[in-house]
Amino acid sequence: MISAVLPTYNRAPFAFVKGEGCWLTAEDGSRYLDLGAGIAVNALGHAHPDLVATLTEQAQKLWHVSNVYRIPEQERLAEALVEKTFADTVFFTNSGTETAELAIKMARKYHYEKGQPRAEIIAFEGAFHGRSTGAIAAAGSEKMVKGFGPLMPGFTHLPFGDHAALKAAISDKTCAVIIEPIQGEGGIRTLPDACLKGLRDLCDQHGALLIFDEVQCGVGRSGKLFAHEWAGVTPDIMMVAKGIGGGFPLGAVLATEAAASGMGAGSHGSTYGGNPLGCAVGAKVLEIISDDAFLAEVSRKSALFRQGLESLVARHPTVYEAVRGQGLMLGLKCKATNTDVVNANYAQHLLTVAAADNVIRLLPALNIPDVDITEALARLDRAAASIS
Ligand SMILES: *Cc1c(COP(=O)(O)O)cnc(C)c1O
Repeated sequence: MISAVLPTYNRAPFAFVKGEGCWLTAEDGSRYLDLGAGIAVNALGHAHPDLVATLTEQAQKLWHVSNVYRIPEQERLAEALVEKTFADTVFFTNSGTETAELAIKMARKYHYEKGQPRAEIIAFEGAFHGRSTGAIAAAGSEKMVKGFGPLMPGFTHLPFGDHAALKAAISDKTCAVIIEPIQGEGGIRTLPDACLKGLRDLCDQHGALLIFDEVQCGVGRSGKLFAHEWAGVTPDIMMVAKGIGGGFPLGAVLATEAAASGMGAGSHGSTYGGNPLGCAVGAKVLEIISDDAFLAEVSRKSALFRQGLESLVARHPTVYEAVRGQGLMLGLKCKATNTDVVNANYAQHLLTVAAADNVIRLLPALNIPDVDITEALARLDRAAASIS
């Protein structure tokens, strides 16, 4: 018999009742060290006091009014994002998938309004942009699209990081290029800075818009507020979600004035997007994470973690192959099957997340205490020993 919950997930057989920082308490009272952070969502850990205070304070005042009216909390968060990034304007959503939908619509509308419609969007193998019909067409992998056709037309898929293939595929008909500066679901694959720069140049040469999907790698995860800052290039449109809400469902599409020029009144909308609760929390998250001292700490913790992971790989060559990633978006490329490694970590009460390319992801809260990093390394070591 089918379960009451549609069985689209392969779930671990335990549930949590409480969280604090990087620790979760299960129904049976046992504690787990959380290196998944709700898949890079709980950027400040569970039950961060400032976020709890902000959410409760806003909850007592106003939850929802709709975008029929001005929303001051939304305006404040938009202004903060504009001040801290390349962007001139922001649209708020409730998820990453919704940011993909708007990014695609915005890019096509931009060219349409210029009197030269373009539909072709270049995307990359291993990409993940969400699960809507548009987002699966953008990602293109057989696993995501099989059985759901006909797909939205207009997407071309190229190998990730293959500049020659991009150069051959891009043309004056290309509407946009959409890419994750660091692929998350694809296996923590970082695009070299030179590739991001080359991408920007090719888009400029052909008048195509450049869309960065920073849903997973953004909001401090890489050690910069946004991952593309490492390469010194900016996109025309950027998708943000996951970490920005710190656990509250919130997403945002950031754009330059030019890229957004086609999106006038009535061209897009969302009932819940940019509601007072989400935006109040998002503003607090952004205030904490965008601080230079906070971001420097992310990089310091990353170096500490990485060093331990490198020696873990050296000690367990039959389990692990290499360390990947940037900041606190780290991956371990496995020799053993990654799901076996995730299960061995569960046995040590350590939560890690599998990704494609036989990788396990380590995406802890960005404020993970050093002692929790040390504890995580000890548990990873015991788990690896149990299967090697
Ligand atoms: C998670 C993710 C999405 C989709 O976000 P949802 O909130 O699950 O809709 C899109 N792009 C990237 C890079 C992601 O990691």
